Amino acid sequence: MSDKPERFIDDEGLRLDGRRVDEIRPMKVEMGVLSRADGSCYLEWGNNKVLAAVYGPRELHPRRMQKPNEVLVRYKYNMASFSVEDRIRPGPSRRSTEISKVSGEAFEPVVMTQYYPGAVIDVFAEVLQADAGTRTAAINAATLALADAGIPMKGLVSACAVGKVDGQLVLDLNKPEDNYGQADLPVAMTQDGEITLLQMDGHLTPEELEEGLEMVKKGCQQIIEIQREALISRYGNEDEEGEEAEEDSPEEVPESEEGEEEEGERDGSFDNEESEAENLDENEVTKEDEGEEDERQ
Ligand code: ADP
Repeated sequence: MSDKPERFIDDEGLRLDGRRVDEIRPMKVEMGVLSRADGSCYLEWGNNKVLAAVYGPRELHPRRMQKPNEVLVRYKYNMASFSVEDRIRPGPSRRSTEISKVSGEAFEPVVMTQYYPGAVIDVFAEVLQADAGTRTAAINAATLALADAGIPMKGLVSACAVGKVDGQLVLDLNKPEDNYGQADLPVAMTQDGEITLLQMDGHLTPEELEEGLEMVKKGCQQIIEIQREALISRYGNEDEEGEEAEEDSPEEVPESEEGEEEEGERDGSFDNEESEAENLDENEVTKEDEGEEDERQ
């Protein structure tokens, strides 16, 4: 690990990586990178590299875990052993278990869980290269992977951290700021600004917390724009397509036609011929996957 820098912000107000205090690191996303997943997204954010894959909705086994009135969303965050400077021990840890739990909960207000009772949606977030802010990077990738899988959502979720170094608030901490800073506050929110994840390491005064939340909100809005552009470049702009983007309400979904309902929803979310064809293929793959899962259990 590198040594603690003497200063994090220079006289010109620039951070060690040249950013201003309210600037996020450059972010690049690519959707649909995995052919066997129902939805996927590869995301680079500064030096973080994260892959998110979504499988489902599919029948949940064992059945006793099924929720009779809604779908179960399972989120698994994992850091690859080669993702950090010193190799980390593979497999779950207290840290990854905690991050998986809170990140899954960050999607609860947006995923329309009533659509697939008894089913499960699995979200896997794999950190390939870690450089501070991996839980937020993973959430940003997972949002797009869920959308790519055609999961009905009320909106997007974006995530970013704010922290404190040299007594100043900074947006989207880099590695030295994360390691040696005075505070780290990862936040996820819906596009309407509803906070769905908030954690804190270190200390902030109530005033700093308030100011930090305003700062992180702006960061999340920038990320939502990046996510929106990624969706539009993959699926086109629904607003421009007009009539085709029909709004469904849960009441309109016939309960007895779950299979058809699923495809209808996917078409409704991001309508184009290519995704329809892909979904048909992917459904077949999903069934094979289910078989594999049964064997493992
Ligand atoms: P986040 O990645 O969400 O900021 P942390 O604040 O726990 O989560 O971690 C900050 C950074 O520290 C990570 O992005 C990663 O670069 C590094 N890190 C975390 N856990 C380990 C570990 N077990 N071994 C080595 N580096 C780690």
